[in-house]
Amino acid sequence: MKTETAKCPECGGESLHEATTSAGGGYGPDLLSGLGRWGLGGLIQVEMAKFRVVVCAACGLTRFYAEEAARAKLATADRWQRI
Ligand SMILES: [Zn+2]
Repeated sequence: MKTETAKCPECGGESLHEATTSAGGGYGPDLLSGLGRWGLGGLIQVEMAKFRVVVCAACGLTRFYAEEAARAKLATADRWQRI
């Protein structure tokens, strides 16, 4: 989704900024639990799923969008119940 022409749903501001960030890491919670990838490096490790984060520079509203690979796992992920 492009944000160049998007407006903030809270204040209507047009100064939106985006970045990609891990949904978990260090000692923090894994906010997209179970939707990451297994990697085989020197040790087996889990690569946390990622968010695209959009912040409005005017009001600070922050939105998180789960990456496509994580969304694709939702239908079959035991931890994520459809509501
Ligand atoms: Zn805003």
